[in-house]
Amino acid sequence: MNSAQVAATERPNSTKRFPAKKSPRGKPRLVHRPPYPPLLRITPYAWAKLLFLRDAGPTEIGGFGISAAGEPLLVEDVRLVRQQCDWASVAFDDAAVAEYFDEQVDLGRAPAEFGRVWIHTHPGDSASPSMTDEETFARVFGVCDWSVMLILAAGGASYARLQFSAGPGGSVVVPVETAFEAAFTASNHTAWQAEYNACVTPLATPGQQELDRGDDPFWDAPSAWWEASPPGLPAAETEGRHAPWE
Ligand SMILES: [Zn+2]
Repeated sequence: MNSAQVAATERPNSTKRFPAKKSPRGKPRLVHRPPYPPLLRITPYAWAKLLFLRDAGPTEIGGFGISAAGEPLLVEDVRLVRQQCDWASVAFDDAAVAEYFDEQVDLGRAPAEFGRVWIHTHPGDSASPSMTDEETFARVFGVCDWSVMLILAAGGASYARLQFSAGPGGSVVVPVETAFEAAFTASNHTAWQAEYNACVTPLATPGQQELDRGDDPFWDAPSAWWEASPPGLPAAETEGRHAPWE
């Protein structure tokens, strides 16, 4: 009996005799996998910038995380877009989101690298998502194959949740970790303050806003464009895809 015949006759029992974890040489296979359970890592630069922007004014602020190439859960920058903010909400300017999108595509980034990690702050101690946050995360980002909602509270608490739309879908709360091991650049308070000044418009004092507060959605536009532009698509070609903002 040759070896092929042995293999054929023993196949029904092969899972017992040759555990799948072992390679033919008897050593466990080493397969590169991302950390599991997944965690959201943020470079010291991005974390410092987020803290700075959070503390630059009394209101919530919001923006997007820019992920490292090939590492979607490693945030290496935080970017604001023009927004109107009060003590408990952030409303992005639709045109500004589109501009940000074009700018990032022009820089050669794919939407998955700059439009999947939604970041905002809470002025209080709680980083738990509000009902509005949940509604926004589902409505605006639910069409994406994956996305992250990251909340940082003034008191220091943070909350991050990764959601998937692929297959049966789902979401999981993920730990947030500072990625000291990643390369990062120096802080730049002058540039960060300039970005804050250019983007953030406080709506009213907290006291007034609490009384006037109505329905103030994050933004109203349908979000099909999140998935629309493939990597590297020239800005001119993405223009028409921004219909919701025009
Ligand atoms: Zn919130």
